[in-house]
Formats: sequence, structure tokens, C-alpha cells
Amino acid sequence: MEMSPNCQDSLQTPSVFSMAVRQLEIVADLIGLDDGVRRILSSCEKEFTVNFPVTMDDGTVKSFSAYRVHHNTTLGPAKGGLRFHPNVHLDETKALAMWMTWKCAIANIPYGGGKGGVTCEPNKLSSIELERLTRRLASEMSPIMGHNMDIPAPDVNTNEQIMSWIMDTVSSQIGRTSPSVVTGKPVAIGGTVGRKEATGKGVSIITKETLKNHKIPLKDCRIAIQGFGSVGYWSAKFLNDMGCKIIAVSNIHGAIFNNNGLDINSLGNHQLSNPNLATFPGVDTISNKELLSLHCDVLIPAALERQITAQNADQINARILVEAANGPTTPESDIILQEKGIHVIPDVVANSGGVIVSYFEWVQDLEHIFWDLEEVNSRLTTLIINSLSKVRNTAERYKTTLRTGALALAVERIAHGLALRGIFP
Ligand code: GLU
Repeated sequence: MEMSPNCQDSLQTPSVFSMAVRQLEIVADLIGLDDGVRRILSSCEKEFTVNFPVTMDDGTVKSFSAYRVHHNTTLGPAKGGLRFHPNVHLDETKALAMWMTWKCAIANIPYGGGKGGVTCEPNKLSSIELERLTRRLASEMSPIMGHNMDIPAPDVNTNEQIMSWIMDTVSSQIGRTSPSVVTGKPVAIGGTVGRKEATGKGVSIITKETLKNHKIPLKDCRIAIQGFGSVGYWSAKFLNDMGCKIIAVSNIHGAIFNNNGLDINSLGNHQLSNPNLATFPGVDTISNKELLSLHCDVLIPAALERQITAQNADQINARILVEAANGPTTPESDIILQEKGIHVIPDVVANSGGVIVSYFEWVQDLEHIFWDLEEVNSRLTTLIINSLSKVRNTAERYKTTLRTGALALAVERIAHGLALRGIFP
């Protein structure tokens, strides 16, 4: 049996989880959080690691490592995505689960925070291998997964198809069709309209609202987006439809720029057959570093965590940073951005459209009644704008940044829930 290098834990330093805890500590100090609550929220409730075999198409067997973490479930079952990526490891999964706890509490939806991932290179797996891996993963995760325990959803490199296989595997094991065990499913089997594009939709609503506050007309707004996967593409598409100019985008193959604005619809189609964006006509290729330092109104990191660091934060030339990715900005770079007067809309608000519409999907599955797109989008708009305004009020109350205000709002809500529930026994 061949052991895949994927099964090795690719722990990176410094830890992403310590960055998430650092953000919590800043808030805890500011709001004078009770020490016991601070201790509870600084660690994760459940950390589940599994190593499991998958038979490859050539008959060899590889071993994969997967993680599922529940950070805190005071306000409801764990909710959060599942990512397939070579850099997935327990430490990153813990940080992402903690950020989900804050995100759900800020959106005021009845969930705690969870996250999961498999250390793998999904683009090197055949479709059948991916299916076998996903089904085995769903089976391995069953002790901590369930519609009122932990509800996964898509994240980096996972999609509707993967959610379908998880739903089918769980349903087969329990002997009845159970759509509410995952969200982000295809509409045909209990998904909701509007979920696929929801994170990008939320990013566009939040960006529009922020531009209004800054008195920047949509048609004058120039935007650069790092990442052109599901979140980056839909953010670009909705903002382009609103009249903004998307002057640069990037994916893992590189970044492209056009000062007059990119044709996002054509570029989206182009990427389906030509992942290398540089082959798109009429664009200049630039480096990722150049994309991040472009002079523009809005910079949207929509890729992975820790892209804006103490090393590059002083080169950011955007007026507004809208965090579509989870954790793209380190606490050290936050201070530099603040000194530069860059307005940061934190991830836990900016990208909450995905989990908000996941909540709508779960509610519809449990009620067996389905809404139309107009209803989904109008509820999303009301909820996310309301979150942003509550976050702004909290930030004003504590005279702090939106990130710290957002986390303060989340921590206050969870601390209140904890006080009501008490500690067992
Ligand atoms: N993966 C998304 C996030 O990070 C969505 C999670 C969900 O819908 O549960 O927010």
C-alpha cells in the first residue's frame, strides 16, 4: 500500500489559529470579557481527525487526512464549509471554525461555528476518485455530522456535486433521504436558488453600501479582485452588473489587468475552457504583488487566508478593502491598514452571504417549502445590511475598527448565550 504525502500534516508557522486567537484577545481586552468566557472561546469544542484510505483508479491505495472542527456551539449546531486543498491542516481548520462562530453570531443566525477539510490536490484526482474520497469522508465524519449537530457546505475547491455525494452517502447510511444534512446542494435535490452565487452577492451588497457611505458613485468605482473562483467570480459579476469597473483579477495561474475594465461575462466563460487568464484577449499580465498594490477604490481578496501581511500592507493603495476570503489580513497588517486610513470590511461580515443563504436552504429543507430567488435575495439583503449596521454601531460604541466591532458583537452575543445556558454540570 502506498502512503500519499497528503497524509502528512503540513503544519505551517506561525499558526493561523494563533492569529484567530490574537483577534479574539484584542476584543476580549477591549470589552473586558470574563476570563472564563475568554478561556472557553479561545479553544475549540471538538477537533476530529481521520486518516482514511481511498482506492485510486490505477488500483493503488492512498491515505488521506481530514479534519472537522466545532469551535463553539452555544448558539446552535456547528455550521461551516468543507475545503479540499493541499494546505489543509488541523490548525487552519480550527481558525476557520472560530471565524465561522463569529460570522454566524454576527449574522444572528442560529448556528455555532464549524469547519472541515481534506489535505489533497483535488485537480489531480479523477471524478471517480473524488467521489470515492468524498463518500468515504462523509461516512468517517458521520459521528459528528447531522442536520442538528453540524451542517457542512462548500468552501475552497468543493461544490454542489460534492455536497450531493455527502447528502447521498448520509441518506444511504441512515436509510432515508435527508437533504438538511448539508447546504450548497443542487436545487434539484433540496438546494436553494441563490446559494451558488450567495457569497459573491453578499460581497456586492456590502461593497455597494460601503461605496454609498464613502460617496463613491458605482460607475466611478475601480475594483481589483484577488481570486476568480466561485466567490471572486460572482463578486466581480454582480459588481460589474452594478456599473463598477473590475480592472484586475487573478487565479492560481496569474493576474490580469485592463485599465478600462475587464469584460467579466466573457472572462468567466473563457476561464471555463482556459484556466490561464493571460490567454484572454486585450489584457496585460501582472503579478499577484502588483494586483494587491494597484491604485483602486476597492480591493477584494477572494482567495486564501493571510494574503495581506506586515510585509505588503504598506503597499496597498486601495481606499476600501472588502474581505471576501476568510482571514486574508493578519492582525499586524490590520494596524498598518488602519494607519494608512484604509477602510476594512472584515470577512465575518463581508463574506457572510454564503452562510446566510445556507441558513435559508436549511430552513427550507426542514420546512419542505421553497422560496423564489426574489425572496432569497431580498431576505439576504435585509439580513446582511442589518448585520453591517449593527457592526458599525458596535464599532462606534467601542471606538474601534469594524473588525474589532464585529468580533465584539459576536462575542457579546455568545457570552450572553453562555450566561443563560450556564456550565454543565
Ligand atoms: N464556506 C463558506 C464560509 O466560509 C460558507 C459556509 C456555509 O455556508 O456553511 O462562510
